[in-house]
Amino acid sequence: MSVLVFLDPAFPDGRVADASVPQLLATDLGATRGDGVFESMLAVDGHPRKLESHLDRMAGSAAALDLDFPPAEHWEPAISTALAEFARVHGDPQAVVKLLLTRGPEGAQHPTAWVQASPVPASAAEQRKTGLDVLLLERGYDSTLAERAPWLLLGSKTLSYAVNMAAIRYAHEHGADDVIFTSADGKILEGPTSTVVLAVIEDGVKTLLTPELESGILPGTTQGALFRAAEEAGWQLGYGPLEPTHLHQADGVWLVSSIRLLAPVKSINGEAIAVSAELSAELNALVETVL
Ligand code: PLP
Repeated sequence: MSVLVFLDPAFPDGRVADASVPQLLATDLGATRGDGVFESMLAVDGHPRKLESHLDRMAGSAAALDLDFPPAEHWEPAISTALAEFARVHGDPQAVVKLLLTRGPEGAQHPTAWVQASPVPASAAEQRKTGLDVLLLERGYDSTLAERAPWLLLGSKTLSYAVNMAAIRYAHEHGADDVIFTSADGKILEGPTSTVVLAVIEDGVKTLLTPELESGILPGTTQGALFRAAEEAGWQLGYGPLEPTHLHQADGVWLVSSIRLLAPVKSINGEAIAVSAELSAELNALVETVL
């Protein structure tokens, strides 16, 4: 069972709520229109990882939607309360922490904000170990649209994830585990819940590559942390544009995110690609040093 803690001016440490009974008004615009933003992060031993990066990104998403964003001083005690309650109920050292913010109930003029702490799904560690069969699926827009059309909220983490979830279901129905979206002009974008990272080793030079943010992808906090650690360890860094051939030619491809961390891609559209257990171990160890 998840733990819920609402941000509420009457409760400085957040208001604990029962996740087994209704807690939102049915008119909440987060529920009726997906009009809101969220973040998901991993907490270990009661400490949320990369909290500042997640709060910064969420503040950016909220600004894109013109939503009032509660300050970090309101989120932090609510997160601590949620993790203390989660430890009491589950006794589990790891938790998924979600921060959610909606435009609030219709006509109310105030947002709804809460923290949810839940167990980490077993599939996260499993997929990190076994790797992923991935389908390339069209996202339906070209890689220059984000800059022309800010109202599409590309690159913001909004609650409207129905398309992302539908893409993953489509992959499952077609014998794959996950998805890499491609743009209408044939560029690699991102996974429905992850950032694409490639490693290329050439003449002893090790390079990590990821698609460019200008293509409308979400700025991944895990990719950002990995790139900072890798640069310090002597890796070169590169930022798109990338095409499917780059995935096939790489020495390793991973879908990278806060909960699952680095999951190696084994095949793309049924065609095997290079998988390197050593590179996975090296990059996982690097990312652990900065989380
Ligand atoms: N891209 C999308 C669309 C996502 O939903 C996510 C995370 O959920 C990511 C990338 C990876 O972001 P992070 O590493 O911050 O978890």
